[in-house]
Parts: sequence; structure tokens; C-alpha cells
Amino acid sequence: MSNIEDDIRDRLAKMAKRMWDEGLTTRTGLYWGGGNISMRVFGTDRVLIKPTGFSFGTIKPEDFIVVDIHGNVLEGDNKPSSETPMHTTIYRRRSDAGAVVHTHPLYADVMGIAGVELLPIMFSGPHPALLKGVKIAPWRPGGTQEIADIAADYLKDCSAVLLQYHGSIVIGKDIEGAFHLASKVEELAKKQWMAMQVGKPGILPEEVRNNMLKRAKERGMLV
Ligand code: 13P
Ligand code: ZN
Repeated sequence: MSNIEDDIRDRLAKMAKRMWDEGLTTRTGLYWGGGNISMRVFGTDRVLIKPTGFSFGTIKPEDFIVVDIHGNVLEGDNKPSSETPMHTTIYRRRSDAGAVVHTHPLYADVMGIAGVELLPIMFSGPHPALLKGVKIAPWRPGGTQEIADIAADYLKDCSAVLLQYHGSIVIGKDIEGAFHLASKVEELAKKQWMAMQVGKPGILPEEVRNNMLKRAKERGMLV
């Protein structure tokens, strides 16, 4: 195992704990784990991914499995996440993606269940990746190549999508970036939902969005 992979394992475990602490995932891990995370080892075809059923609250660096970009297990005794095809399909199609985070937080889930796309609404600290809103990929059964393909299709030219009836999936340059975006998707879903209870959410003007996107691209903030 390389130092790079040791470092990735530590970072994945740290971000998993933050996801748990911030309520981005709430399951105990008795059945499925309430989402999954992975990080690619750039320059290789290796991916470190969470094992199936593990809780985000207690997972340790050594628990992560190494698979290749086609999903074959290379290292690790645990069974890889049931959504490994979704992660590896995205890595194959998006060479710029360094990490994938899929989770089922309350508000993103609710919006995906209700079929309400997320809007580029006005709120403090919007993530540039959300300035075009967030689309909903149509439902496909979890853990299949079908959900993998539809998620990768929808992530072709953006970094975040809702999966109908099944939470959200985002990509980032690295696991910290993907975690941050997943957290912002949930924040946006929550604020939009709340705004919809009392009025009509205000949309950021297109010119403002375009300027913000341009600046974000210049600073390399987007994948
Ligand atoms: P795993 O525990 O197999 O990663 O599954 C969790 C999940 O979110 C399934 O969609
Ligand atoms: Zn899931």
C-alpha cells in the first residue's frame, strides 16, 4: 500500500465521520449504509471505496476497499459498496472527477421524492456548482448498472444531481470538495423547501450567476 493510499484512507474516514456528524447520512449501518463515498487514485485505475453496510459514524481507514475502475476488488476483505458500479462508471466517464459522494439526507431526498428540481436560489454562500440548479435523474433500482448509467449521464456536464427517490450524488476534485458540495446540496434543498412553505424562492439573476461561474472556473473551483 502506498503512502498516497494511506493518506486517502485517512481522508475518507475523516470525511465519513463529518458526514455522519453533520447528518448527511443517518443510517446505523445495520442494513445498507445510507450512502457511499470513494476517491480515485489519480494516475492509476485504482479507487478506494466504502464497504457495503458500514456506518459512516464508525468506519476506519483500514475498512476501505480498493477496486479497479471496472469495479473488480483488488484489496480488502470486506464487500465493496453495492453502488460500486455507480462510482466506477462515473470515474470512467469523468476523468476530472477525483471523488464521488452519494448520500440520502432528508431534504435532498424529499425533493427527489416530490420531483422538485433544485433552483439556483438566492442564499448566503451558494456553491458555484449549484448555480445552474440541480436536476433529478429518473429512478433506477439501487445497486444496478442502470442507476450507474443514468447517474453518469446526468453528471456529464455538472457536478451534482438528485436521484429520484434516492438522495443525491456529487463529484469533486477530491473527497473534501465532494463532501462540501454534498453538504451544500442538502443546504440548498432545505432552504428551497423552507422558502416554498412561505412564498416563492427568489432566483439569482442570470448575469450574476454567469459572472460567479466564470470566476469559479478561472479559480479552478469546478470539476
Ligand atoms: P452500501 O452500504 O452498499 O454502500 O449502500 C448504501 C446505499 O446508499 C445504497 O444506495
Ligand atoms: Zn443510496
